[in-house]
Amino acid sequence: MNTVIIGGGIIGLSIGWQLAKKGVNVEILEKDKAGLSASRAAAGMLAPQAEMGFEDIELFYLCRSSLDLFPRFTEELYNDSGIKVELERTGCILPGFDRDDAERLRRLYDFREKIGMPVLWLTGSEAREIEPFLSPRCTGAIWIEDDAQINNRLLLDALKIAFVKCGGRLYEDHEVEEIIIEGDKVKGIKVHGTNLNFNNVVVAAGSWSKQIKGLPDNLLPPVRPVKGQIINLRLNDSCKISKVVRAPDVYLLPKSDGRLIVGASVEEQGFDVNPTAGEIFRLLERGWEAVPSIYDLPIESIDVGLRPGSRDHMPIVGDSEVEGLYFATGHYRNGILLTPVTAFEMAEWISTGNKSDVLKGFGIERFYKETV
Ligand SMILES: Cc1cc2nc3c(=O)[nH]c(=O)nc-3n(C[C@H](O)[C@H](O)[C@H](O)COP(=O)(O)OP(=O)(O)OC[C@H]3O[C@@H](n4cnc5c(N)ncnc54)[C@H](O)[C@@H]3O)c2cc1C
Repeated sequence: MNTVIIGGGIIGLSIGWQLAKKGVNVEILEKDKAGLSASRAAAGMLAPQAEMGFEDIELFYLCRSSLDLFPRFTEELYNDSGIKVELERTGCILPGFDRDDAERLRRLYDFREKIGMPVLWLTGSEAREIEPFLSPRCTGAIWIEDDAQINNRLLLDALKIAFVKCGGRLYEDHEVEEIIIEGDKVKGIKVHGTNLNFNNVVVAAGSWSKQIKGLPDNLLPPVRPVKGQIINLRLNDSCKISKVVRAPDVYLLPKSDGRLIVGASVEEQGFDVNPTAGEIFRLLERGWEAVPSIYDLPIESIDVGLRPGSRDHMPIVGDSEVEGLYFATGHYRNGILLTPVTAFEMAEWISTGNKSDVLKGFGIERFYKETV
């Protein structure tokens, strides 16, 4: 049985690594260079609880179970790559500056309380005790102590090494032009005009997943690119923020490599990846309102990435009515967080044929059932 994964982002690489570990004959084909797309631009927050409420409860639990899998994931990755990628429990403050914010925070607080997750309600001065760089305008906040983050760039480096060390083959600059399906079975793919046979094909092509030819209409994953811009500032003595601050419309995320990420825009601009003055201005202004001392920090760089957003903003993971055709795409704003659960569950599913209970309800069939 041989398997090909289309796309060398964090999702393709991690499923490939887990399949290779299980002794599956697996290749990843990447149209550019692996690990340079949305997965690199991402901030690396592992924060299932900061934004979600009851309307996202199924996604919330999936994210939560993925967060719990991170220690096992990074431990295995260390053994296979020699690179230690630490899970950093930075904790997250959600500050409020006016009455609107207070109402929104109250809803989030109640949600977490009801489902028994740790959360603390803070006054403005209590919030500044935890994060002294927070604006004096902060009137109240919630504190989520167990929110975590990870160095997603290091994670990508480690995944590439682990995949190859475990026996996988990575082909960069190989764009998959078409998926070949005959009857109700997948036969392989077309690359550089040549047909190649595979028993299993996994679509992990992020925002481009819908662009690949050969998929029947009712199996086209409804995924679109959702542009995200972030600014990397360099922390120094004038601003040594150490906690994640999630203010309305902006987050500030201190990284262990000395960057302070100010992000992120959420834009419907097709495949355009140009940074733009307006969004950068808006992010910096909102960031400065929350943490005024960012004003003097040097700007190091700007990153732009395309989040693969599905129609309902939930991931599309699982098999399909075509034998051997799998999807692992549409991870939208939580692709880094959802990596362990996607990799472990999909690798088990593909290698044994046993459907995953954990991924139930996240398959592509939920979209084409709607149209019948
Ligand atoms: C600004 C920003 C901040 C983010 N912050 C976070 C965060 O803090 N936490 C979090 O959990 N998530 C975050 N995300 C979301 C996360 O980055 C994505 O959900 C995740 O990276 C998706 O991974 P992927 O492998 O599916 O896609 P990608 O990383 O985009 O990889 C897909 C790959 O497929 C390749 N490809 C496409 N078509 C083909 C083809 N035909 N043939 C071969 N290769 C092909 C592409 O070149 C690409 O390398 C953020 C995203 C952005 C943009």
